[in-house]
Amino acid sequence: MFSEQKRYAVLGLARSGVAAAYKIRDLGGKAFLSDIKARQNIANADTLEKDFECEFGGHTDRLFGCDEWIVSPGIPLNSQIIQTGKARQINMISELEFGFQIKHPSSFLIAVTGSNGKSTTASLIAHIIKQAGRSCILAGNIGDAFCGFPIEKPGIDYIVLEVSSFQLDLTESFKPDIALLLNVTPDHLNRYDSFEDYARSKFRIFHLQEHTDHAILNADDHISKELESRVNAQMHHFSLRRNDNTDLLSDIWVQDKVIVDDKETCSFPVRDLQIKGPHNWANAMASILAAQIAGFSRSEIDRGLRSFQPLNHRMQFVQSINGISFYNDSKATNTDSVRYALFTFDQPIRIIMGGSDKGEDFSILTPLLKEKAEKVYITGATSAKMQQAWSGEVELSAVEDFSECVRLAFRESQPGDIIVLSPACASYDRFVNFEHRGEAFIQIVKTMAAEYEKTQ
Ligand code: ADP
Repeated sequence: MFSEQKRYAVLGLARSGVAAAYKIRDLGGKAFLSDIKARQNIANADTLEKDFECEFGGHTDRLFGCDEWIVSPGIPLNSQIIQTGKARQINMISELEFGFQIKHPSSFLIAVTGSNGKSTTASLIAHIIKQAGRSCILAGNIGDAFCGFPIEKPGIDYIVLEVSSFQLDLTESFKPDIALLLNVTPDHLNRYDSFEDYARSKFRIFHLQEHTDHAILNADDHISKELESRVNAQMHHFSLRRNDNTDLLSDIWVQDKVIVDDKETCSFPVRDLQIKGPHNWANAMASILAAQIAGFSRSEIDRGLRSFQPLNHRMQFVQSINGISFYNDSKATNTDSVRYALFTFDQPIRIIMGGSDKGEDFSILTPLLKEKAEKVYITGATSAKMQQAWSGEVELSAVEDFSECVRLAFRESQPGDIIVLSPACASYDRFVNFEHRGEAFIQIVKTMAAEYEKTQ
């Protein structure tokens, strides 16, 4: 627990680390800041040095003089510094854990994790709550860091947190009132020893929950099913299909394209959602369950569902050129989110893929690409690996230059075609982040639209 007497070290000075450092200071404590990055690569290094004791360009023994480390999610647990810290029995927590320790007890906490759909679902839940006129903050991986808000004070009715497995790895008391696990599919395998380790770290969201708490799970996700005997909280399930043959009946499901529930308190046609595709129906069902449990009425929930707009870079419609539609799904950084991109459209799509490798086996997409992709356009650092997985199986072209790759897809399209950037990879091979990649794609589409206009 927080104590002014403790000497804290903050390792990693990105958004969440800096927010934790200032929170410690505001609460009257002391923090020592340490980052492996050189001073010139640290944002606001001058100000940080004025406000705290700092070291840049590497972690030194000064860290071992601190009582507790707050470790940023960007630092792998198998890195040298973390291993050394563990060997020296330093207590290490994430910024998420620290935020939980200082959070005012009156704020109701809803935490969302999963391999895909976290941002969309957390944003949708927060949207429903705000539309209903209650105060709510949306924090964590999306928006500002948890510790960036006045969470230690009363006055925030609801906190909705988007939580990554990296943040969950270093928790010790974190216990949300409602915890959602949307799905567990391969991702970040470059950071975990095995898929089992990754799945286990996702399940830490339920770890300390008690029977008075609530857990929302995906009945269609076999990993969740396998591990859910560990959950102590009251469980609620959503499913894309009602399966009466299993012993696990879901509480909410989709029937004839209408979301319905077993209490008959919900009947919501999916065509009224502005977020498209079955994966988003799943996100909507998870959000409905959370909002119901949190006490919102059917009309409040319906209003929020109807007015919620898709987030940028998640199956975001960009524009049409000559009847050819472009969608930016740059946030699709793993194969599972690409699977859902392929399911979103009734017709086959032209799909642009590739980026930096996260250790996945791309061949798991082969059957679906055969069925749902008109053609695959490959670009970026995973190009060779993707070609190896799919050549001879699906029609594909590999184009090194990103812009040229998009242009080739456009040149080969007919009116009525759909072109989707859904990379199945991280963006760091050529872009700062997935937003940067998505913006680059949008810019290329806009330039092509202007060029096309001139020819008309
Ligand atoms: P996250 O925050 O977990 O990365 P997002 O809501 O940002 O999730 O969506 C990331 C990507 O995953 C997008 O490409 C989106 O279309 C896809 N996606 C969203 N929800 C789901 C889901 N429930 N299952 C699979 N893919 C999803």
